[in-house]
Amino acid sequence: MAKMKAIRKLGARAGMEVVDTDLPRIGPHDLLVRVRATSVCGTDLHIYKWDAWAQSRLKPPLTIGHECCGEVVEVGASVQGFKQGDYISAESHIPCGHCFQCRTGLQHICSNLSILGVDVNGCFADYVSIPAACAWQNDPSLPVEIGSILEPMGNAVYATLIEDVAGRSVAVFGCGPTGLFSCGVARAAGASLVIGIDLNPGRMELARKMGADHVIAGNDPELLDKIARLTGGLGIDVVLEMSGAPAAVKTGFRILTKGGRYTAFGLPSGPIELDFANDIIFKGARVLGINGREMFTTWYKMMGLLKSGRLKPDPVVTHKFRLEEFDKAFAAMQSNEVPCGKVVLLP
Ligand SMILES: [Zn+2]
Ligand SMILES: [Zn+2]
Repeated sequence: MAKMKAIRKLGARAGMEVVDTDLPRIGPHDLLVRVRATSVCGTDLHIYKWDAWAQSRLKPPLTIGHECCGEVVEVGASVQGFKQGDYISAESHIPCGHCFQCRTGLQHICSNLSILGVDVNGCFADYVSIPAACAWQNDPSLPVEIGSILEPMGNAVYATLIEDVAGRSVAVFGCGPTGLFSCGVARAAGASLVIGIDLNPGRMELARKMGADHVIAGNDPELLDKIARLTGGLGIDVVLEMSGAPAAVKTGFRILTKGGRYTAFGLPSGPIELDFANDIIFKGARVLGINGREMFTTWYKMMGLLKSGRLKPDPVVTHKFRLEEFDKAFAAMQSNEVPCGKVVLLP
């Protein structure tokens, strides 16, 4: 049987290994995809480090990776709409198709959700099997680096555009990849003011490149005054919380204008204390949680923004390595010296 290279978690311990393994077998509803580029997510770093979340969720052995694009090389017998040679990107959320959420247009938060590279073998490999229901057809002209980051960029598109941002002020807390994409999306969608907030000067610079009008250090003692000046004392219309840091969550509610929208995406490592009465009730805040991307409303919006040329995600891809060099990828993500956006791995 044909063999391929894959980055796998072989046992319940830190690290990952490059192994030769069998090609995935596909079912009648699946596509076999030759991976052309795959990008590394914070989730993969949790898995690499084997932290408490990873220990509770993963069942090794498992091939890691859930953000990728590639060429369809085999099509399951019951699949319609895809053929050999198609260039696709993967939606990592694999819905069951029959639960309440799936039947009411919320497949992306399916009650029986599986995630590529977390619950089933993923795409840090030469080949990956994905359900055709999770494939997105790309234009052949889309560079593979961009094809590999559509899934995480989709998080930002969904989080930013779940409500209109045109003519509104937007503050993005946390300028990691999702926050950086969000700055670009808010700018492309006509926000009147985009403010990027982070602690790392390199990331703040990237936020500027992605279209932030202003960047402010999260620990700047004048942060509240600066926001007040920039918004004529009104506060921010739309807060996008991409950091998961408790201090940022608190500050986000403080700078939100009354009746504003607070979008929660960044994952805190534990419960966070809120001033429920003042931050949410008296403020009339709309707090919207974001998990994943809408299947596939978000993808259509994202492609529209990319095709228009208004959303230019290139500055977010800061590193490229060969697939086997995954150790370098995880080192780059944990280094504070060179600002790290998305790291793309090429098989
Ligand atoms: Zn991810
Ligand atoms: Zn479901």
